[in-house]
Amino acid sequence: MNLKDCYCCSGKTFDVCCKPFIEGAHQATTAEQLMRSRYTAYAVAAVDYIIRTTHPSTRNQYDAASIRAWAESSQWQKLEVLNTKKGTADDITGKVEFKAYFKDSQNNNCVHHELSDFLKDGGNWFFVKGIVF
Ligand SMILES: [Zn+2]
Repeated sequence: MNLKDCYCCSGKTFDVCCKPFIEGAHQATTAEQLMRSRYTAYAVAAVDYIIRTTHPSTRNQYDAASIRAWAESSQWQKLEVLNTKKGTADDITGKVEFKAYFKDSQNNNCVHHELSDFLKDGGNWFFVKGIVF
């Protein structure tokens, strides 16, 4: 049993937090869960999951090779969820504002601050687009 703390800083272990989403065993029930699991997917370079959870309407704006390059060249340090609007199991839209802390390939400390839009389609949450601050 792997008791590693989840990359998304939820305080839960990876095995019961983001891993079941990334492996496809469960679907995220809230926009925040999906957001957290997408951050974790960057940390473990699960590029297919990042693409799969991007809504088909905007998926062509995201490139698997660039996602992989960013994911693998960075050391993902921690995630802070700053704010969420809607995005519960009863909603069909949601917004999550977060900061992802990472070290880049030059070992510089970086912060990616984003407000992401999520949409529930066919019963599943998808990332649609984000505003980067
Ligand atoms: Zn997690």
